[in-house]
Amino acid sequence: MNPAARAPEGPHAAALLSIAHDALLDHLNRSDAQHTLRRALDALSDLLACRCALRAQDSGGRVRWHIGAADAAFGAPAHGWIVLPLTRLDQGVGTLALELAAEPAQVAAMLDPLQPALAALLLHDAQAQPGTGAANLVTMIRSALEGVGTFVWDWDIESDRLGDIDRGLEMLGYPAGAQGITQRAWNCLIHPDDLQANHAAYLRHARGQDSVYEHAYRIKAADGRWRWYLERGRIVEWHADGRPRRMVGIQADITAKRAIEVEFSQAAARLEKIARHVPGVLFRFEMDTGGAGRFGYVSERLGAVFGVSAAALLHDAAALYSVVLPQDRKPMAESIDRSRRKLSEWRHEFRILRDGGAMRWVVGAATPQREADGSVAWHGHFEDVTEMRELEAVRRGAVAAAAANRAKTEFLSRMSHELRTPLNAVLGFAQLLEIDRSAPLAETQRKRVRLIREAGEHLLSMIGDLLDLTRIESGSLALQLAPVPLRTLVSEALPLIQAEADQRRVRVAMASAPYAPELAALADRTRLRQVLLNLLSNAVKYNRPGGTVELRVAPEGSDSVTLHVIDSGVGIAPEDLGQIFEPFQRGVHEGSRIEGTGIGLSITRSLVQLMNGRIDVQSTPGVGSTFSVTLPAAAAAATP
Ligand code: ADP
Repeated sequence: MNPAARAPEGPHAAALLSIAHDALLDHLNRSDAQHTLRRALDALSDLLACRCALRAQDSGGRVRWHIGAADAAFGAPAHGWIVLPLTRLDQGVGTLALELAAEPAQVAAMLDPLQPALAALLLHDAQAQPGTGAANLVTMIRSALEGVGTFVWDWDIESDRLGDIDRGLEMLGYPAGAQGITQRAWNCLIHPDDLQANHAAYLRHARGQDSVYEHAYRIKAADGRWRWYLERGRIVEWHADGRPRRMVGIQADITAKRAIEVEFSQAAARLEKIARHVPGVLFRFEMDTGGAGRFGYVSERLGAVFGVSAAALLHDAAALYSVVLPQDRKPMAESIDRSRRKLSEWRHEFRILRDGGAMRWVVGAATPQREADGSVAWHGHFEDVTEMRELEAVRRGAVAAAAANRAKTEFLSRMSHELRTPLNAVLGFAQLLEIDRSAPLAETQRKRVRLIREAGEHLLSMIGDLLDLTRIESGSLALQLAPVPLRTLVSEALPLIQAEADQRRVRVAMASAPYAPELAALADRTRLRQVLLNLLSNAVKYNRPGGTVELRVAPEGSDSVTLHVIDSGVGIAPEDLGQIFEPFQRGVHEGSRIEGTGIGLSITRSLVQLMNGRIDVQSTPGVGSTFSVTLPAAAAAATP
């Protein structure tokens, strides 16, 4: 195909240049024409490494030539000028003159960004100077354009003939002319799903809704694969009755670009998905050499953690500071500055006021890196650590309490041991005084020595209780579980309580109701006796003169057995029932004349639980109480 031979007619060329100009404007993304012209001049001078001149009208209507900054002289070019009349909204705003370089490499390097403009330019130039050196340059540009996947087309709407489409077919791998050269034939290659939108884009332009026709669609290549084409064009000739007659434009293969875009958007979607499941907020923060900061990225969870929208923060980084507690702002800024200067990891804990009220603790951590322009960018995350801090405080408190408890238990255990030794000596000598016949005591002295001994024994039993309590608390009390026949146990315990019961005029007896003599519990014999004595002693102690204490043993279901200690004593107030099993709780008897330490029931319950049983109490004030110990049943062993 010879581009010179296909040079368009005069008005056609002007329209092409208009398209080129629009494309140039789009490329530079500027709406202000004067500004665009200057930018275009600089950009083209740099890109082409050639002289570019601009003839424009200033605001006073005077015509001025602007010349590329690098070149003060504005003489005749070696390879000729390409002159581009520039229009804006169909009004001429000036002329751009380019001295094109002869180097193909230079031309090709700048083709990609300026494809649409150059595609039209070359047609114009070919028409202006056919057969000249510039025409060779045009051929070169044209083939370079095709090399990067862009070609120009020319559609005669009336005949449906598509000019230059042979080349387009070749680029898709079809032999030239195989599919015909009509728009209708071309449409057969467009993906059916894109055809309707393609036609709609054309109609919008034809009806004047869009100044340029533009559409990206899939087109089938000869190998059966779909390629993405970006098409731009404009109707350049009209019939007198307003029907479009001719349209020109360019096509670019954007398959690779599109694949990159898809990959990019998939990667971005993946990042968003990951960020949504990360408990904290991911971010990229940048600070320029002047110390101005901005967020380049923040994940969606920002709103949930900070109560600030991601959009607000991306727009203005100071939105973050506005929720940081005022007294925490300076230390935070200082920590960022330190990290920026030393390029050291940033980690900072600060408080925020969320939604104007609730105070939350947040940790920020990020890694800085120096960018090519001297700025510093951090990638990192924020995390709300309020709950973690609270848990940590509770954990620290629990550890401290456990340590204090251990210290108390150790102290009690050591003190009990230390007290027992001298106390045993006191008791031993008191007994010696009582029984020493070689030096018999007078009656008064004997009474006093007995008081010393009894008080000592009481003290010893209290120390014994304390030791038990500390052993239970430290988990060092060893039990030996074996079948314990309960009738035997009761008959062993009753005599031990008898003296005290007689003294208080309380009658203690086993229930007359018949029970199975072979009933036995799986328990530690010594400790179960201690439990029973404790309950019996309380039943007598908190009784009334003439009262009774009754013992009952009964099976509980098929695998348990219960020992009831029933008294007709003073009873326990309902509000005290929940407390009496706690150490040192004596209920109404706190400070009363009835002696006690308040640890007997606590030891009793712990012992029962260690033997896999439970203890229950039922009581009516003024009527009496029933303590029931339920233990796993065991086959009765022979009475020892
Ligand atoms: P202590 O008898 O040394 O005070 P305990 O731990 O044995 O300690 O008992 C705790 C409290 O439970 C007693 O002070 C008393 O108020 C109440 N209590 C225990 N047993 C009885 C009972 N059988 N009748 C009435 N109150 C009792």
